[in-house]
Amino acid sequence: MLHPVICIDGPAASGKSTVARLVAKDLNFVYVDTGAMYRAFTFLTLEAGHDPKSRARMKQLLEKVVFHADIKDGEIHLQEGGRDLAPHTRLPEVNASVSVVSALPELREHLVNLQRKLRLSAPLVMEGRDIGTVVCSDSPYKYFIDACPTVRAERRRKQGQQDNLAARDKLDSSRSAAPLVRAADAKLLDSGHHDARTLADLIVKEVRARLSPAPTVP
Ligand code: C5P
Repeated sequence: MLHPVICIDGPAASGKSTVARLVAKDLNFVYVDTGAMYRAFTFLTLEAGHDPKSRARMKQLLEKVVFHADIKDGEIHLQEGGRDLAPHTRLPEVNASVSVVSALPELREHLVNLQRKLRLSAPLVMEGRDIGTVVCSDSPYKYFIDACPTVRAERRRKQGQQDNLAARDKLDSSRSAAPLVRAADAKLLDSGHHDARTLADLIVKEVRARLSPAPTVP
């Protein structure tokens, strides 16, 4: 059986992770950060000393990599060869290369398959760039969270992270494989004008109303 999935897409530093975590907690769904998966493979590419622009090298590496996704404390934890890659996914060099690496169609196919399989395990809140358009395009629960570039850059600055948002957004939106774009049926939410709690409450309310069975007429 395929469980329901709430799709939350948006550009870098749009606040989608914060909102997605709150929604998952409120509904007792499992939170899935797909960006962390692309980041994990980017780290492995850099660790192996490969140039992120070398498609052939990355394809060779992908053949050797065995990802394992575990559900723990309401979240997906990605392991490779028994190693938790989470501590390495936010490094500045990963930020700088992830949008180049994530454009590799073979990597996208590999990770999309893994992400789709998670729907067999539990109801999900999945966030990323292509969840509503590609990964779970059949889901009726789709949201696109955005904010103006100034608000997003300020957010990253406060997090103390070195991250060229404009460059990443440009690469993510212009790639040919699953570009970052709002699904036609995704609701647009502005995290510059509403805080994460307000947006999460709105999503939870809408999803609860649609998930609950229609009242039976006596
Ligand atoms: O969400 P986050 O900023 O951690 O994502 C890191 C990068 O991973 C994005 O800039 C994008 O290149 C890639 N990504 C993607 N598709 C997804 C999630 C992330 O291409 N579903």
